Amino acid sequence: MKLLVVGSVAFDAIETPFGKTDKILGGAATYITLASSVLGVDSGIVSIVGGDFPQSDLDMLSRRGVNIEGIEIVKDGKTFFWSGKYHNDLNSRDTLVTEVNVLEHFDPKIPASMQDAEILLLGNLHPAVQMTVLERMTNRPQVVILDTMNFWMDSAWDDLMRVIAKTDVITINDEEARQLSGEYSLVKAAKKIHEMGPDFVIIKKGEHGALLFHDGKIFAIPALPLEEVFDPTGAGDTFAGGFASYLAKKEDFSFETMKSALSVGSAMASFTVEKFGTERLQEITESEIVARINNFKDLTTFEVNV
Ligand code: AMP
Repeated sequence: MKLLVVGSVAFDAIETPFGKTDKILGGAATYITLASSVLGVDSGIVSIVGGDFPQSDLDMLSRRGVNIEGIEIVKDGKTFFWSGKYHNDLNSRDTLVTEVNVLEHFDPKIPASMQDAEILLLGNLHPAVQMTVLERMTNRPQVVILDTMNFWMDSAWDDLMRVIAKTDVITINDEEARQLSGEYSLVKAAKKIHEMGPDFVIIKKGEHGALLFHDGKIFAIPALPLEEVFDPTGAGDTFAGGFASYLAKKEDFSFETMKSALSVGSAMASFTVEKFGTERLQEITESEIVARINNFKDLTTFEVNV
């Protein structure tokens, strides 16, 4: 199955307790599709960059099998730029700069070669743009996955509600789930979010893993305890990319398959945080992923006899 991703392709400047970077490759769609390429899943991006975006990065995505026909290049425009600084616990961060640049007037166009994608992942972007992409698919994809953040809850509530209503799976972090639902309990929050549209609600809890809610059932997966966490940027996007790519590989959208997909997303994200930006994600092989998923199994499987 094919995966179509809409989201930012960006420059990021990141500061963590371990160091800082100048402008490096980032963006939600970049992390998501790099995760897909590790698993050998056909993916394509709908996004926009400026004339300042390096051809070498576009070539790198292309070489990895990512369809970049849907990345518009505005020759005299500037690429979206985001800068963030992590606190010492690495679980929280401050956004220092967001320069929307070419994303401000983004009118997404879906290339004919991606119109048949069975899975659509609406990565973190303005919900009105996410909605436009969904509306411009000739046939509705079999599964629509939505990732969003508090920024859009504060600035584009009505648009966000409209796109959530059309979504099958939502991925959101714990703080955002509380803000979206007005409930502190994540169980109650998931119930309210179900009522907004999605049948499947995934709540990400950073270093504490993720929860999947569906039809009165709950499944939990931990995050792999890592000795070194270097830079959490893109962990959420990588998680979503790993999750969606596993569904694409299995061609199945049942609760059971989604449980396994959660472990793939977590394993993938555990690599991303080991180095700055997309560096680690660009290095890993499918066998490394398989080994790490097995680590997850060892971590979470146990027998009990009462
Ligand atoms: P994550 O750490 O998973 O939340 O994702 C980080 C990525 O999201 C970075 O590479 C940024 O370029 C991108 N990003 C941050 N803010 C926004 C925004 N408002 N719209 C689109 N992408 C963003």
